[in-house]
Amino acid sequence: AAFDDFKFNKQVLNAIADAGYTEPTPVQQKAIPSILNGQDVMGIAQTGTGKTAAYVLPIIMKLKYAQGEHPRALIVSPTRELAMQIEENIKAYSKYTDLRTVVLYGGLGPKTQIENIKKGVDIIVATPGRFMDIYLAGNIVTKTLQVLVLDEADKMMDMGFMPQINRILEIVPRKRQNLLFSATMSDKVHQLAGNFLEFPTVIEV
Ligand code: AMP
Repeated sequence: AAFDDFKFNKQVLNAIADAGYTEPTPVQQKAIPSILNGQDVMGIAQTGTGKTAAYVLPIIMKLKYAQGEHPRALIVSPTRELAMQIEENIKAYSKYTDLRTVVLYGGLGPKTQIENIKKGVDIIVATPGRFMDIYLAGNIVTKTLQVLVLDEADKMMDMGFMPQINRILEIVPRKRQNLLFSATMSDKVHQLAGNFLEFPTVIEV
């Protein structure tokens, strides 16, 4: 399969070409069609397999490369490092679009992060605790969210983020697309997947 086989538009295909990618990786080949179809997906894939592009590229398509009034996609990551890496990837893949991405993580004051949200945001990448803090302070509209991604779900469970994830699930719209990525399939991830995903396509690479 080639990237041209997916229903990507020119803005996305040009960004992929700029990144130097010549063909989709196995996780991308399997996940992208299902995500574009609107299905929930559970991807068992390690870092290094191209899992970030596997969900970010279809999300860019789903958001129609245009700005909205409030955030439409939320990607939850266990660590600040991963959140920053995901944000960097989104910025590269959406460079020919008008989409705006904001990254939220702890370890520094929330002021700049809140200001960035107020300027307008389409995609939020966040660690669970900081996302809830900024939400509870009244700074995030969640009713417009269409896609929710839990990345490195096994790591989030290991780090004890289950309560924060459950809180996030309570404040997002019931009707939404859910994507879960995990390097391993532990009991806790299985339990989380059961609460989170509806009739998911399961992908293992
Ligand atoms: P990830 O698993 O998302 O952390 O991605 C690992 C690395 O693979 C990143 O540096 C990506 O830029 C790169 N990558 C993602 N998709 C492709 C692709 N289709 N071809 C070549 N490299 C890729």
